[in-house]
Amino acid sequence: MRRAFPGYAAAPGMALGRVRLEQPARFSIDNTPLPDSETESEVARLERAFAVAREDMAELRRKLHGALAREVGEFIDAHAQLLDDPELIEGLRAMIRKGHYRAAAALKAQRDRLVAVFDNMDDPYLRSRGEDVDHVIARVQSALARQASSEEKKLATRVGEILVAESVAPGELAHMASHGILAVVAGSGSQYSHSAILARSLHLPMLVNTDGVLEDLRDGDLVLVDAVRGEVIVHPAAQDLAQFRNWQREALREGQRLAQLAGAETRTRDGHKLRLYANAERSEDIERARNLGAAGIGLYRTEFLFLAHDGLPSEDEQFHAYRDAVLGAGGLPVTLRTLDLGADKADAAGLVMASEPNPALGVRGVRLSLRQPDVFVTQLRAILRASCYGPLRILVPMVTEAVELVEVRRLLRECARDLRTAGHEIPDQFELGAMVEVPAAALNVRALLEVADFLAIGSNDLTQYVLAADRNNDQLGKLYQPAHPAVLRMLAHVIGRARMARKPVCLCGEIAGDPVFACMLIALGLEDFSMLPDRILAQRDALSRCSRKTMRALAPRLLRARDRDEVAALLEDAQKL
Ligand code: PEP
Ligand code: MG
Repeated sequence: MRRAFPGYAAAPGMALGRVRLEQPARFSIDNTPLPDSETESEVARLERAFAVAREDMAELRRKLHGALAREVGEFIDAHAQLLDDPELIEGLRAMIRKGHYRAAAALKAQRDRLVAVFDNMDDPYLRSRGEDVDHVIARVQSALARQASSEEKKLATRVGEILVAESVAPGELAHMASHGILAVVAGSGSQYSHSAILARSLHLPMLVNTDGVLEDLRDGDLVLVDAVRGEVIVHPAAQDLAQFRNWQREALREGQRLAQLAGAETRTRDGHKLRLYANAERSEDIERARNLGAAGIGLYRTEFLFLAHDGLPSEDEQFHAYRDAVLGAGGLPVTLRTLDLGADKADAAGLVMASEPNPALGVRGVRLSLRQPDVFVTQLRAILRASCYGPLRILVPMVTEAVELVEVRRLLRECARDLRTAGHEIPDQFELGAMVEVPAAALNVRALLEVADFLAIGSNDLTQYVLAADRNNDQLGKLYQPAHPAVLRMLAHVIGRARMARKPVCLCGEIAGDPVFACMLIALGLEDFSMLPDRILAQRDALSRCSRKTMRALAPRLLRARDRDEVAALLEDAQKL
């Protein structure tokens, strides 16, 4: 029976696929004992599920190439080994034969036992291996559930899978994306979370805050994710499928229209030139940015390299990734942001403290880097070595005070000296910039401008800190408003001060790529925008419809607005002119 659940579209698009529930603990597991007569057929079901899971992994391995194969391949190999572990399989067979467990119940009991063993380990690396056990057993559970034959199975096995989970951490999403999922449905979450940003970058339609979906969906159900209107439809009807096909056709047409803007200049309606940079997390983003005519990479989030890695990437591994980014940009400037771990981005190597009471206000970004000089110096050395291959700028996240940037510059100078002594070619000059995302840094931006070569405004975090509203908390969605006049005043102040100091200032939060905010940012004086590569053409199109002169004249009224609705009304009126 068709059922629809409303959700919030955090990454646009539509997808049709079968459900992969990521919380097997929430499956309704049948715990009634098996009759003697059924134990052998249950063992056979379990073995078939293992075989299917093994085949899934092997297929995935075959599909991976390039850097992804290197990074994700290790995960897959580790998982494949677990699937072949004779003790695990023998233990499960014994539970079914002697304990009369059903296969799913035996798997769950084994999972809980093994995860508890890993959870109690002191070594953070070993502790994190518990997650692998969890993933492997989830795979077998999922294969087991799929054995229940249904009418939909024939259709569903031809399409991909849709990840349905209560919440998805960015590291987990990076990992899942490489498993070929088509879309993500999360029970909680918000559009400004790092997971949502990553989903947009990976072109994965994502619905967040989708109430009731976890209780209702079963592994293998056929669903249509509509992250345009914001709903997930279980057992879609013929008219839903027709709508899906229409959307596919429409998306193709709009893509073709926008494609004509690739490589074009970005100008406002009255001819003022603007620069659109790309935010990048992976090498593919850089290639796409270049093809679309981006002015460069305005924000390269290096932490995703750490999130996708088991343990810490070495200096050489980092150097190769950064050098490839610089080479890939083909002479366009690349702005590498140093590690921004902490808050919702926890790393596999356990650098981030798990138990901070207030992680968003805790040891994150440059605060963490300065407390872990060994890790930070390794990254700075890799960045400096990569800077010989093309124009590279270094950007520091979560700066609160100018002294933090001064300390980073001192470390950079030390690293450059050591590298030169060791025979490396290191350029004499490097550009060092600060992210402005902490209100204190924004209000006191004059001090920062004395020590920074450039600024990048992180409006995602600035908004959450100005409004004291967690960007990941869907309950505060109404309060988290980047167009709030208090945020606007802060943005205008930072942009204005940077322009007075004749230092470049770019905005690289999500609103930089949102057509709804295009004219508003022009009004505040912004000329450099950095966004997901996929947003570049649509934003170029939207900006070409704004008159800079009209918008700049509107700025004083926007900054006097009382609330977001007044801001919206002013913008709407101005756009009619
Ligand atoms: C921001 O805060 O706006 C930003 C660009 O950084 P991130 O989203 O990675 O925190
Ligand atoms: Mg930020």
